[in-house]
Amino acid sequence: MRAQPRASHFVDGAYVEDAGGTPIDVVHPATGEIIARLHEATPAIVDRALAAAERAQSRWARMKPVERGRILRRAAEILRERNRELSVLETLDTGKPLQETLVADAASGADSLEYFAGLAATVTGETVPLGRDFVYTIREPLGVCVGIGAWNYPIQIACWKAAPALSLGNAMVFKPSETTPLSALRLAEILHEAGLPAGLYNVVQGRGAVGASLVSDPRVAKVSLTGSVPTGRRVYAMAAEGVRHVTMELGGKSPLIVFDDADIDSAVGGAMLGNFYSAGQVCSNGTRVFVQKGIKDRFLRRLKERTERIVLGDPLDETTQMGPLVSAAQLDKVLGYIATAQAEGARLVTGGARAGQNDGCFVQPTVFADVTDDMTLAREEVFGPVMAVLDFESEDEVVARANASEFGLAAGVFTADLTRAHRVVAALEAGTCWINAYNLTPVEAPFGGAKMSGVGRENSKAAIEHYTQVKSVYVGLGPVEAPY
Ligand code: NAD
Repeated sequence: MRAQPRASHFVDGAYVEDAGGTPIDVVHPATGEIIARLHEATPAIVDRALAAAERAQSRWARMKPVERGRILRRAAEILRERNRELSVLETLDTGKPLQETLVADAASGADSLEYFAGLAATVTGETVPLGRDFVYTIREPLGVCVGIGAWNYPIQIACWKAAPALSLGNAMVFKPSETTPLSALRLAEILHEAGLPAGLYNVVQGRGAVGASLVSDPRVAKVSLTGSVPTGRRVYAMAAEGVRHVTMELGGKSPLIVFDDADIDSAVGGAMLGNFYSAGQVCSNGTRVFVQKGIKDRFLRRLKERTERIVLGDPLDETTQMGPLVSAAQLDKVLGYIATAQAEGARLVTGGARAGQNDGCFVQPTVFADVTDDMTLAREEVFGPVMAVLDFESEDEVVARANASEFGLAAGVFTADLTRAHRVVAALEAGTCWINAYNLTPVEAPFGGAKMSGVGRENSKAAIEHYTQVKSVYVGLGPVEAPY
């Protein structure tokens, strides 16, 4: 098997196996080839990982932040040195084209490690003067954090959780998605090669039940999940039982609004990036594309032309622009949404069918026009290359319709009128908005959702809030005045 790791789990600084766990077959979705066989973590493995994390964390928290940062910065360098090999692994595991993984996955993980490496030593408390007495505050790590990942950006998600957690003095036990379990193990290896002491970053494999056993363990102080809204609700409820801190990065059905004064090619390019990158498996995708009526025909014509030129094929070929979906289950789900859209009266502009042959999970990049707000395609997250184009006439109307969703992850506006752009963005209910751009998520900017799309923010200085807590220390400088 061409991507078999040394063992299923990475615990207390070393690979460990426990063949007693239920097997997990790792499948390359372009061909159906089994590339690795792992085992789910047994309760004994979960216990070892949490115990190791708890043991290692207090000494790590006492280390000088600049020293913690140095280790993370070295890990970022190793990630960059091994970018190609990590990208090939990510492409085998997810099916995303190498053209993308070479620039977007390990590379953004390295950015995150580098950013939080630098931030570590800048986190300070404050002094609160009270006349004679004063209070000072200390930002302390939370302790043992659990990270749970989705399958669309496996190493990026692993880094986006590990980097802030570790830089701020926490330990982490990470459970990757059972669909894409491989690259987090490589991250664990690299972090230790860079000098991370054993026990601080552990990887355990498993399906939802393993995740649940981590989330409900009393040793855990914080849970950061990237996943769907239904999983988020369950994990949030379990974490609440133990009054644990949470970050919830969940799903979306984000609006992308194109006004009739927009640069058409930029707007079409933004809509394509926001629907077809990673074969549409991006949480912040702008899957409800609202196009103002005056430019509808021109927009659709240009969109159809450019969509039909997308190069679909072997994701390991660097000229391929779109690979398969991540799994056969996701393929069935996406084909189901396409059939429902047709049954509900959406007009197919291009695509709409399975592509390729044999066991590859390929779907043609698909565009539906004349989609209305009540259709399933406009309400539910598809997580595949299926764009819904909706018409609108006025600004007030489109803002109201854009906000009429339980989700609030992201939103975009294309217009030449920047006054309108800022006005519209101010009215949109979303954690991240783009003006004349789409789906750019630099580590320097906070990222996360409003409404059902999540709680908390990843990346940027905002993540400090979510991986530390504040201790207030009151210092009395005079005699105690007691009334008795
Ligand atoms: P999912 O919700 O099925 O699974 C996510 C993770 O949760 C997996 O590791 C899974 O094993 C685990 N899990 C499932 N049940 C659990 C339970 N009861 N307790 C603990 N853990 C449990 O999501 P997915 O299909 O892997 O990923 C796609 C979803 O992730 C989409 O909805 C997408 O929008 C979302 N996503 C969000 C972001 C973001 O940053 N907001 C980023 C990427 C993906």
